[in-house]
Amino acid sequence: MDIKCNDCGERWYEVFGALNDKKCDSCGSKKLTWILSANYQKRQLGEWKVKNWVELKHIEVWDDKEDPRGSVEFDPKIFCLLSPEDNYRYYWFPYWIKIKGKRRYGQFSPIVPEDEFIQLMTDAIDKNVFSSKVQRKLLKHLLKKS
Ligand SMILES: [Zn+2]
Repeated sequence: MDIKCNDCGERWYEVFGALNDKKCDSCGSKKLTWILSANYQKRQLGEWKVKNWVELKHIEVWDDKEDPRGSVEFDPKIFCLLSPEDNYRYYWFPYWIKIKGKRRYGQFSPIVPEDEFIQLMTDAIDKNVFSSKVQRKLLKHLLKKS
């Protein structure tokens, strides 16, 4: 992922991390934007501004003593991406896996446009893909927010 300075335009690559503490090496500005560029076989697929993201408060660790890989961590996140042209929203579901102490980015995580995301979610609710527990908790949270 790239970071772009909103003040001087400097742009550099960084592995995903917190944006809060960073500042531009060129001008010292703290007005920075995360940029996600998606490429496939050297072809540019798209570029989005990262609006914000969520991650788990606690990352699950599986520690199977009989598994030769040792402990395994799975770290999923949900990002809101904005198209630079019209601020149309996309939802990105990247994940990181840590095996034997080595943290790696999970390949081929989906980026779903907002309208498709809404259709998938409403169809999933209609077909009871989600348990009643999930539906109750999400509804309760949405009502609390509004
Ligand atoms: Zn700068």
